[in-house]
Amino acid sequence: MTDSTLITSFQSFLQENWTKSNFERLTAVQEKTIPLVLDGQDVIAESPTGTGKTLAYLLPLLQSLDQNSIAIQAVILASSHELVMQIHSEIQQWSSGSLIKSAAFIGGANIKKQIEKLKKKPHVVVATPGRLNELIKMKKVKMHQVKTIVLDEADQLLVPEHQDTVKTIIQSSLAERQVLLFSATLNKDLEMTAKDWMNNPTVIRVEEEAALPEVNHIYFVCDNRDKIELLRKIGRMDNVKGIAFMEDIGNLNVFAQKLEFKHLPVGLLHSNTKKKERVDAINGFRNGKYNLLLATDVAARGLDIKGITHVIHLDVPKDTKQYIHRSGRTGRLGSESGTVISIVSYPEEAKLKKLASKLNIELQRKVFIKGEIRDYR
Ligand code: ADP
Ligand code: MG
Repeated sequence: MTDSTLITSFQSFLQENWTKSNFERLTAVQEKTIPLVLDGQDVIAESPTGTGKTLAYLLPLLQSLDQNSIAIQAVILASSHELVMQIHSEIQQWSSGSLIKSAAFIGGANIKKQIEKLKKKPHVVVATPGRLNELIKMKKVKMHQVKTIVLDEADQLLVPEHQDTVKTIIQSSLAERQVLLFSATLNKDLEMTAKDWMNNPTVIRVEEEAALPEVNHIYFVCDNRDKIELLRKIGRMDNVKGIAFMEDIGNLNVFAQKLEFKHLPVGLLHSNTKKKERVDAINGFRNGKYNLLLATDVAARGLDIKGITHVIHLDVPKDTKQYIHRSGRTGRLGSESGTVISIVSYPEEAKLKKLASKLNIELQRKVFIKGEIRDYR
């Protein structure tokens, strides 16, 4: 099937929403995955960050739901509050004109209110694994009519700390359910583990997406104590919308406080911030209240925020995967080109170069002169 015949085979509400989106064509991962999902197969799909994996599962899923049933028919698991909310709003957008109802469940939110939402009989549930498992145990969510389970950012959901919960959820549904795994990074080991509880999955690997914008990878070297000043300078450049990552929550808090003290308001997002503060940080960043969002790797997965110009690594990612997901917040489909900046201390430089060579990325060292980024010579 060509891509336009695929789209014209969809129900009219999906075709109308497709027209509204102004998208020209399906992406590679969408074109390859959608027919398999419609066919009821289990799928493991790997495709780079920002290549449209969400719609690769959402379009066939929305197409197949029985809108007249009151059962939960599909469950989508995601690794962070922000990603759950983003997927939920994508479902609302793409189900407009239909009777489809979706509900989102995240940890930290009032469970009584969440139970109320279930009384409205959603067809699709999007959730973080911990919270969904609680609702299943309380017998508020019944899994026996669930036909499809999606693991978005699958490798992140299957890290040791979440793996048992995710397996429990999958195994609480009937054996003939369809399981779909998506990520930009799915290694062979994971494929082997997943195959134990999947039904003969088809593996799709997309290497490149033609329409993806270009991304520059650059770096600065400085003393540790000067990192913050460099970040401040980046935050002060014209038209910057940057997300800066650091693993250590304590240091991240210090950075945020120091930048605020220097009159550069920033959003702050990590697992120890309150739920309301997380919502404020992400919304403030999305709508331009903050030029900079300071975040731990909770924000490294799946977030699709319009117009991110820069991703900044304030520490060297521990592996290629971490570099890929953090950096993948810029240079997404339909956006302008992006820049990935690593700010490293002298001892960190070698580690960064090693990472870049593993990833086959050309890194250029830069310096800051008079508020502008220039070549280092
Ligand atoms: P991934 O999950 O692969 O990282 P997303 O699903 O978040 O990527 O999609 C990245 C961006 O591309 C989103 O802004 C989305 O709206 C857009 N997009 C999705 N499908 C298409 C398409 N077929 N054509 C153009 N843009 C698309
Ligand atoms: Mg995604």
